[in-house]
This record gives sequence, structure tokens and C-alpha cells, in this order.
Amino acid sequence: MATIFSKIVKGEIPSYKIAEDEHYYAFLDINPLAKGHTLVIPKQETDYLFDLEDDLLAGMMVFSKKVARAIEKAVPCKRIGVAVLGLEVPHAHIHLVPINAESDISFSKPKLQLSKEEMQAIADKIRQSI
Ligand code: AMP
Repeated sequence: MATIFSKIVKGEIPSYKIAEDEHYYAFLDINPLAKGHTLVIPKQETDYLFDLEDDLLAGMMVFSKKVARAIEKAVPCKRIGVAVLGLEVPHAHIHLVPINAESDISFSKPKLQLSKEEMQAIADKIRQSI
């Protein structure tokens, strides 16, 4: 069965899309730790990040760099924190989180509650910075 993230890639489930190419797709996390919290996924369905072929894994980091640069421009922050958990969704993904302090990327803290309009505005701003 297709993962929820594959359904997002196919457009069967809506997402706040940030970027896409032949192999990767980036979109806002719906339960963000910070404004601009973005997920980068490979279009190929693979649960565990480190099961990806070397080339696909390496390319995913280069794609993430492009997205991170755009987030930096759109969301004031010290830098973009990077995390990989994968405990909830069995489709490899990299979290890109704008941070100013270590605690900004703590996954045990309450998530932000942002309106659809706020999420859309953030996504638009990041997309325009790419
Ligand atoms: P984890 O697998 O532990 O890295 O967590 C999965 C992440 O995916 C969580 O931060 C969720 O908020 C996020 N997530 C789950 N479903 C969606 C969705 N439909 N759109 C965007 N983000 C999602």
C-alpha cells in the first residue's frame, strides 16, 4: 500500500509544496516545530533513509541544501537544523527546521498551531526564495 507521503507526491493528499524534481519532493510538515519546518522525501518509496542507494541518498542531501537555503531566506533563523526520525511515517524523510537554539528542534515540545493561510503564506515565501 502506498505511504501517505507517496500519496502526497501523486497529489492524492494535499500538501504545502516547496519544491520538486525528478527524484525528490519537499513540503511543509503539518505539525511544525517552527515556521518553515519542511520535510524532504525521495519519490522512491523506502522506509529507512539509510536503505537508500548511495546516489539517491547523496542527491537527497544536495536537494535538501537547496531547500534549506530558501528556508533561510524566508524565515529569520540562525540556521537550519536537520533531523531524521522516521518513527511515525515509514517513508524516508529529512526534517529541515529553522532554529535559533537547540530546544527549537526538540520533537517532544508542543507543535505550532498555524492556520491554513499562515502555512500557505510560509510555503509561498519559501518557494519564491528558491
Ligand atoms: P517521523 O516519521 O517521526 O519523522 O514523523 C513524521 C512527520 O511527518 C511528523 O513531523 C508529522 O507531523 C509529519 N506528517 C505526517 N503526515 C503529514 C502530512 N500529511 N503532511 C505533512 N507532514 C506530515
